Amino acid sequence: MFPPETRILVADDMPTIRELVKNQLKGIGFKNVVEASDGEAAMNVLVSNQNAGTPIQLVVSDWNMPKMTGLELLKQVRASADWAQLPFVLLTSESERDQVTEAILAGVSQYLVKPFAAKVFEEKLKGVWAKHNPGK
Ligand SMILES: [Mg+2]
Repeated sequence: MFPPETRILVADDMPTIRELVKNQLKGIGFKNVVEASDGEAAMNVLVSNQNAGTPIQLVVSDWNMPKMTGLELLKQVRASADWAQLPFVLLTSESERDQVTEAILAGVSQYLVKPFAAKVFEEKLKGVWAKHNPGK
């Protein structure tokens, strides 16, 4: 499982969802959670953290956001050598469910259909960790 110090970026355009996800992550034990309100802002956080030497180690992003969607963010992230292996979880709504194939092809680590329970979130994150850290 991701260590408690993992630097996590939560991107969602709805403040209530960001708060909920952040609280779930804190409940699981994570200490370093930063937020972004859209895909563009999320990319800015990724770049500034990378440049500061404190790279983001897990992205939890909503799909449907203004300026840049979660899928577009994922594609930009995967296009960079620095983030080719960055764990990336997409939060989708029921209506995006049939589009997940595109996200899988784009290299998403895992996706979660909203709303989800903290326990389900934790299990998914364990799976993501195992996927990105085989043998650990
Ligand atoms: Mg949204």
